[in-house]
Amino acid sequence: MNIPEWSSDVVRERADVSCLICGRGLGQIERAEGKIHLIEPPETVNAAHLVRKSGVGMACSHCGGRAYVGPLERIARYAA
Ligand SMILES: [Zn+2]
Repeated sequence: MNIPEWSSDVVRERADVSCLICGRGLGQIERAEGKIHLIEPPETVNAAHLVRKSGVGMACSHCGGRAYVGPLERIARYAA
């Protein structure tokens, strides 16, 4: 198997964000080219939104619980 060479141009990392209290999905965090941005979760009954709460940081809009960021997974962006 050929392992491609990673460069900062093609590597993205994504992590699932979920609520530690109610377990709702809060979207994903994506890191690419040194920048981090948030991917909103699909609108489902099991989804809530990330909110910023003083003293807590990122929290769940549904119950106010602390957001948990899962392990970053590398995903490749293939050139068209
Ligand atoms: Zn919650």
